[in-house]
Order: sequence, then C-alpha cells, then structure tokens
Amino acid sequence: MDKKYIFCPNEKCKYFRVPGRDNIEVKQTQGKCQKIDLMRCKECGALFSERKGTVYFGIHFADDVFDEVMMLLMTRASIKDIERITRVNEKTIQRWERKAAGYLKEIHEKLVRELKITECQIDELWTFVLMKRKTVQRKGRVGEGNIGDQWIFMALDPVDKLLIHWKIGKRDLETAKEFIRELKGKLASSPLFTTDEWPAYEEAFLSNFSEEVPLEPRKGRGRPRVKPIIKPDKDLKLAQTHKYREKGRVVKVSEEIIFGDEKEIEEIIQKSPVSNRINTSFIERGNGTFRAKISRIVRQSYSFSKNKEMHESHITIYAVYYNLIWKHSRLKKTAAWLSGLVDRAYTFRELFQLRDPEFIWGH
Ligand SMILES: [Zn+2]
Repeated sequence: MDKKYIFCPNEKCKYFRVPGRDNIEVKQTQGKCQKIDLMRCKECGALFSERKGTVYFGIHFADDVFDEVMMLLMTRASIKDIERITRVNEKTIQRWERKAAGYLKEIHEKLVRELKITECQIDELWTFVLMKRKTVQRKGRVGEGNIGDQWIFMALDPVDKLLIHWKIGKRDLETAKEFIRELKGKLASSPLFTTDEWPAYEEAFLSNFSEEVPLEPRKGRGRPRVKPIIKPDKDLKLAQTHKYREKGRVVKVSEEIIFGDEKEIEEIIQKSPVSNRINTSFIERGNGTFRAKISRIVRQSYSFSKNKEMHESHITIYAVYYNLIWKHSRLKKTAAWLSGLVDRAYTFRELFQLRDPEFIWGH
C-alpha cells in the first residue's frame, strides 16, 4: 500500500491528518491473507493499521481481491461469474459494493463542485428493481417506492464528458425537482440545459431557478390575489428536444426554448466545440457513449439489483469509474481530467487508498 498520504488518525495529535512529516513508522507486520503493517505515530504513540481510513479497512481479503471484484463489476461478468473467479461470495461482494460506493460517492462530492460549464445535458434511463411495473401491479405492491420501475436521472457536461450528477428514483415531479436542486448545487455557472420533452422538467427547473414576485395588493373592491408570480431567473436557459417517432423510429427532431434568451442560446451553440444544434445527443447517442455504457452496466446488474440500495451502489461505482478511471478512447483522458478537476487518470487502488480526498485534491 502506498504510504505517501498516511497520517496520524489521533485527533489530539499535532500531526492529525498531516501526512508527510516522518512521524509514522512501521511497528510490526501482521495479517493472514496479506501482510498488513501496523503503524505507529512517533509523535503521540498511536498504533493503527496501514489500512485505517481506506476502503480496505476491516475487510478480510487482500487489497488485490477487492480491486479485482470492483473491476469485474464494471464488466459484463455476472455476480456468479465474479464469485467463481474471485472466490468471494455474493453477500460479501454486495457488502463491498456498498462500502466502495459510499466511499466513491464522497470522493465525487468533494471533487465535482463549483463547476463552470457552458452546456449541460440531462437524460433519464429506465431500469427496474426486483420487478417491472406490470409485475408490481399484478402483485399488488404499487405503494412501495423502492421496487419496480426506477429511473436514473443523469446530468452530463457534453464538452468534457463529465458526469456531474445522477439520481435514482421514480419518474415523477418530486424526483425531478430534487435532482435539479442537487445539480444546481454543483454549478458555479448558468449553462444551457437541454432535456427531452418530459413535461416535468419545466416545473422542476422553474421551482429551482426562480423567484416569487409579490403582487401589489389590488386597490378597490374584489378579493386580493394571493398567488405570487413566479419569475424564472434571468440567466436560466432551458431547451428541450422533441422527437417524432414512426413505428418506434425517430423520424424528426425539433427543438424548443423553454427558458432563456434565444440569441444567448444560439451563441452558446455556435461557440460549442461539440454541439451544432440544441440536442441531448451526447448523452443519448449510441455506441461508445455514456448512456450505452451505463445501460449495459445496469442490465448486467439486474441479476442482483434486488433492492434499490444495491442498484444505487452499482451505479455510483460505475459513475466514478467512468469519471476518474476510464479513459475516453479518442481523447486518451478521463472525463475528470478533461474537465481540469484532476491532472491524470486514477485507478481503483489509488482511489480506495485515499484517506482524505479533500486533502489530496486541495479543495
Ligand atoms: Zn500522532
């Protein structure tokens, strides 16, 4: 394990969370499946495992096995295949997935924030947990929010291919509102948002990017109007694409500006290195794009997406893998690298051994 960033975990020590001060030494080596060093802080005498604070802490397997399971989860291998190849049983794999997802999500949250982007494409991908909608109806389990049809809401920067935010939930207004609110929290600019024609987006955007203008009380007789006017923010730009289908095939696509100044939007499109019209094509386009990749991953995970949490974990690991580890085949860089958030590609190992992502990336 790379000990470069190891630091004293004792809150009372003056070197708490301060790596690289020569205060950490190896006390002894232990472990059955792999040699794990017991570390000692020379400053305060604290003893701790070299795995402390990393994702590997508390697992009873070698780091390599954990990494291999994660890599296999990113492929088309089934859970049974992974069990056979690695000899780690399904229950353990699922526990590891939850652990890795929680850890990687934290890295994502610390890394992807205050983004300055010009375009943002939004899309929803249909998946299901445990059973499809029809089965849910047949079995009379309609009220249960965590089974049946689930949608992955995704927001992507088409310029640098960064997956900014994702959320899994029902395809309803509440989920859309929350998704847009969370997305807004990651942005430090007002990009041109593009979505498909699903009507809930308009209200979801309006509820997050607007202000209420109180009405002057009416003079004279009559009941005063109580409903304030909702005014969209001046710099909110939302465009939608409408697809016309014949026998399931898209025959025509039209665009509509929902919010924002037409000229300003045109200018963004003209300057865009990737778009030459309003579109959600990057996120939607066939082979080689995010949508294709994630749907393959999601299909593969059906076999063990028996609950929503597992489903979410799987998608989180994939999303961080996509942003930080996977290199775009033509551009030879990862999305986070292209976005300037990091300056190289990472490996699962490097991410899993980070003890303090905040420190590493200097935010
Ligand atoms: Zn110490």
